[in-house]
This record gives sequence, structure tokens and C-alpha cells, in this order.
Amino acid sequence: MSAAWEVVIGLEIHTQLATQSKIFSGASTAYGAAPNTQACLVDLGYPGVLPVLNEEVVRMACKFGLAVNATVAPRSVFARKNYFYPDLPKGYQISQYELPIVEHGELFITDEAGKEKRIGITRAHLEEDAGKSVHEGLDRHSGIDLNRAGTPLLEIVSEPDLRSAKEAVAYMRKIHTIVRYLGISDGNMQEGSFRCDANVSVRPRGQDTFGTRTEIKNLNSFRFVERAINFEIERQIDVLEDGGEVVQETRLYDSGRDETRSMRSKEEANDYRYFPDPDLLPVEISEEFIDGVRDTLPELPDDKRHRFIDDYGVKQDDAAILTASRALADYFEAAVAASEAKPQVVANWVIGDLSGALNKEGLEIEACRIPAEDLAGLIKRIQDNTISGKIAKEVFEAMWAGEGTADAVIEARGLKQITDSSAIEAIVDKVIADNPGQAEEYRAGKEKLIGFFVGQVMKETGGKANPGQVNAILRSKLK
Ligand code: ADP
Ligand code: MG
Repeated sequence: MSAAWEVVIGLEIHTQLATQSKIFSGASTAYGAAPNTQACLVDLGYPGVLPVLNEEVVRMACKFGLAVNATVAPRSVFARKNYFYPDLPKGYQISQYELPIVEHGELFITDEAGKEKRIGITRAHLEEDAGKSVHEGLDRHSGIDLNRAGTPLLEIVSEPDLRSAKEAVAYMRKIHTIVRYLGISDGNMQEGSFRCDANVSVRPRGQDTFGTRTEIKNLNSFRFVERAINFEIERQIDVLEDGGEVVQETRLYDSGRDETRSMRSKEEANDYRYFPDPDLLPVEISEEFIDGVRDTLPELPDDKRHRFIDDYGVKQDDAAILTASRALADYFEAAVAASEAKPQVVANWVIGDLSGALNKEGLEIEACRIPAEDLAGLIKRIQDNTISGKIAKEVFEAMWAGEGTADAVIEARGLKQITDSSAIEAIVDKVIADNPGQAEEYRAGKEKLIGFFVGQVMKETGGKANPGQVNAILRSKLK
């Protein structure tokens, strides 16, 4: 990208709230049911039915507002956003417009220079999701599945404070982490529970006013967000450098071709003829309600990260990785508590071998096959010299494969480290006797051959000899 242009991005993130029932009806929100089995008369938009607000969504929105240091509005209003689409039987979506439930929040990301950067959150408002059109498996027809209609969403709108695709992803990840810490959304991106629209514009560096933006709809992975934005930045710069103008429009990202395509010209708010929904009362929230919600807030990711650095002495980058999910942070803390090792040693195992094993199988920490206490048990056996760090990797693999605790694996596979000096001495003698040429060279000054001899002893012992002892005994015998 040319240094002459500055990028401006604002995200609208839709996160599905993890309620049992829908925002205005009692129908279930469970994912994956047969089409139209979870849509009641309210979701189907039958005449004469009335929406009833699910109190839980108010509590969840309030939780989010407090977590991002925002104002929770004492009074907010549901509005009708009118448009026609087959998956919207009422002909309008119930959303919030002029008076949203959450306003003026903020969060902090680490920018590309490694500095903390504040990103403003303009607002977060409650709304209902629409249904889905289904094309697969239907010969030249489309079907409508209204199971998703009426599912509660929190739409979180950022200020245009983001300056690169990487920053946009960092911001989106942060929101993702926060909603999962709060337990207000499962954040499942494959199922569409967490998705975003990216607004992108460019302007000549130094210009005060923003350039014309486009909006890329419905991005449902972090990778796609980054790619779609980068494609769009290049496209806009090309248009402007060729003397053209960026058209304000809605675009779709095609991940197969890695490009964005025009979908429709940008609609204006007045196209939707918003007006307050006469079927719903304003949402009034008392101070007591907010205080009650505040009491239920968990420790938030940033606080946890700082605590890991300050109290455990864990490296900054590692603390960020460990606190990316609450479950991973809990796992780490449980392993630290159960082991006598330095927390950084535990962190290395969790971030290294354990995360590696999880990633290989596409598992989250919740599905981890080695309990935190057992990982601590393995680390203990390295610390007390029962096994070397190298053998520990083998023990870990066996534990992962279901062979039991570290002690059970060490016993069953006979991996206990050889620390008996006379046993090691005997093997060292044999190795030196078997390799007279190398021994002579070593004695003549080729000291790096020590590695060769250590290797030979390890080979003889199946890697079980204590490496420190092997080294010392070899050096004295080769003198
Ligand atoms: P709408 O509801 O029409 O999509 P909003 O004004 O509410 O528009 O803005 C939506 C998002 O677009 C916000 O995240 C905002 O920060 C972002 N945004 C607004 N103007 C620009 C711009 N010129 N370039 C990039 N992002 C922008
Ligand atoms: Mg928008």
C-alpha cells in the first residue's frame, strides 16, 4: 500500500446473545434444528401477535456495556426498520435506532507498533435476527427457514478509529474475547453467532475529512475480515489514483476469489423509515438493576492479563495468549496451583506442547484430554529430575494418547532417568572404548566432539541418562 494514503475503518459487529429463547418470543434459539421447527407465531409475523421482551437480553447488553466502560441508557427504545425480504415476514426488523441501550464505550488493542491504542465504541444496540434463505438441495427453488428469525443480536458499532486491517482484526478479536468472558455469546463464527460488516475508506494522508466508504457485509472469520479489508483498500486506492471516485455502496466478499463485489448502492437511514415500535414499551433500566449486573461481572481479559504479568511473572506476549479465552486462563491457573514450578515454565507447556496438540486436532481447551493437574504432574517429574525435558515430550504425547498420568507413563514405559553415576560411568567407558578415533581427536583439542559422545551415551540409554551427569562424566573421562 502506498504511504500517501491513510486507511479508515469502522466495524459493525453482530453477536448473537446466548439466551435459551428468542428476544421477543418463547421459541428456542438452539442451532441446527430442522427448518421452521423453532419459529412460533411471533417469529412468523402472524397478524395479531405481540412481541414480549426477554429480560435476559437486557441483562446481557448491560453486562457488555459495563465491560467496555460505556453508558447504559436508563431509557432505550425499540424501533421498526422497514424493508422487504423473504426471510423477514413482518416486513420490518425490530432494532434500536435513536436511543440504543449502550453508548460511548471503549476498549484497548495493541497496535502494529506494539502500543496500546484506544478504540471508541459508538454504541451497542439490541435487535432481532432475520431468517435464512436456503438454496441447497432444492431444485430451482429457494426455501425460507425462519428458525433464526427473532434470535437476539447485540450490534456493536465502533468509531472509525481503526487504521489497518490488522487493527480491525485485533479489535474484533478483543470484542470476541470479551463477549465470551462475559458468557453473553458463544462467539461461534461457523454458526454465524459472531460476524461483522466492515466500513472502509481511504484518504490522502494529512486530510481531515474522511473519504467515501464502502461497507463489506457479513464477514464471518478473522481471516476473511483481514483479506476483505486489504482487498478493498487496494481497490479504492486504484480507483482514486486513476482519477475516479469511490462509490458509497454495500459490497460482498467472495472468499473463493479473494475479492469484494458490488452488491447494492448504499441505502440511507431514511430509506428504512425507522419509527418507534408501538408494540413495545421503552426499556427502562434502574440504577439497582445496573448495580446488580455489575456484581456479576467476571474478571475481564485486560485485568487478567495484567495480573498474569504482575503476579506470575509471565512474559507479556504469553499472558496475552493465555488470557485470550477464560477457559485457557483457568486451565493455566489450575496447572500453576497444582505444580511447584515457576509459572513461566507452566506457561511454556500450555502455549507450546498443549496448544500444539489441541490445534492439530482443531480442539478448544474445553475439550483438552489432559487435565491441568496431570500437566502439573508431568512438570513435577521434570523438576525433580525423574525425567529429562526431552523424555518429557514423549511422556506428554503418551498422556495425550490416553496412557494415563505422567507417573503411569514413566512406569509403564520404563522412562525413569538414569542418575546412578556408576551406571552412567560404565556406559561412558563403553562408548569411549567403541570410538577410539574420536576420543583421540577430542583429546587433541577437537572439543566440539563432546556432542557426539553425549549423543552416543543417550543412544545407548534410550535418552534416559541425566544429561548434566553424562556431560560431566564424559569430560572427566576424556581428559
Ligand atoms: P450505517 O448505519 O449507515 O452503516 P453509521 O454512520 O452508523 O452508518 O456507521 C457505521 C460504521 O461505519 C461505524 O462503525 C463507523 O465508524 C463507520 N464509518 C463511518 N464513516 C466512515 C468512513 N468514512 N470510513 C470508514 N468507516 C466509517
Ligand atoms: Mg451499517
